[in-house]
Amino acid sequence: MTVGEAIRAAAEALAPISDTARLDAELLMAHLFGISRSELLLRRMRDPAPPDFASLVERRAGHEPVAYIIGRQEFFGLPLFVTPATLIPRADSETLVEAALALRPHARRVLDLGTGSGALLLAVLANLREAHGVGLDRSAAALVAAQRNIEALGLRPQAAFREGDWHAAGWADDLGSFDLILCNPPYVESDAVLDRQVAEFEPASALFAGPEGLDDYRILIPQLRGLMNTGALAVLEIGANQAASVSALAHAEGFATELRRDLAGRARALLLT
Ligand code: GLN
Repeated sequence: MTVGEAIRAAAEALAPISDTARLDAELLMAHLFGISRSELLLRRMRDPAPPDFASLVERRAGHEPVAYIIGRQEFFGLPLFVTPATLIPRADSETLVEAALALRPHARRVLDLGTGSGALLLAVLANLREAHGVGLDRSAAALVAAQRNIEALGLRPQAAFREGDWHAAGWADDLGSFDLILCNPPYVESDAVLDRQVAEFEPASALFAGPEGLDDYRILIPQLRGLMNTGALAVLEIGANQAASVSALAHAEGFATELRRDLAGRARALLLT
């Protein structure tokens, strides 16, 4: 069987569980060859299919996300390394990066709370070469991935990661203050029914935040002002139906808020000043 035939068969097999079955199959195949998807499509479609392909397709058919199978996910044009200890960066979250870069192009100190793979922080720092940033996460395993991304992207002079948990007393004592704060906290309601590829594979600690999904905002928002320089901006990711409730938490702390929507028109980022 050729690569092209194997991809076609895999796309059919994956169609019942994936909206992007053909793309999934191409990414898995490109990963096996160690090449980009475009190079695969241009040059390898008539090659014999590698025997290992079937086992990768089988993992995907069991709902495992492609990003975890291949250990990669692109975010804001950056090739990121991801592991099951990190949430897979979503295209929706690029809304936060766009807002941050547009509104604070001269930020010098940047903080990313719940950095995971480092996606938000590294996307911002890669575009603000004068800025320095700190990424904080309570998961040491996530920070291993984040550290690997710093090195691979050559951003070591600009970024540092540290372990910390905003539920613990004194967590922010020696962080200093920032011009820009990014945060994609857990915000899913604890009884929400998620896709199996999310629920069964992504870290629950990065997703769920109590019955209304608001637990982390309730703890974090009152602590933000103490981390912000005069004129600073905080950019929080929110769930599609959380604009009113998170705005109310922010207003209660004296913040002005502005909402940003993602490409699908859903409420996605709340800007606090
Ligand atoms: N956007 C993610 C999802 O829909 C949730 C991310 C989060 O809780 N921070 O699964």
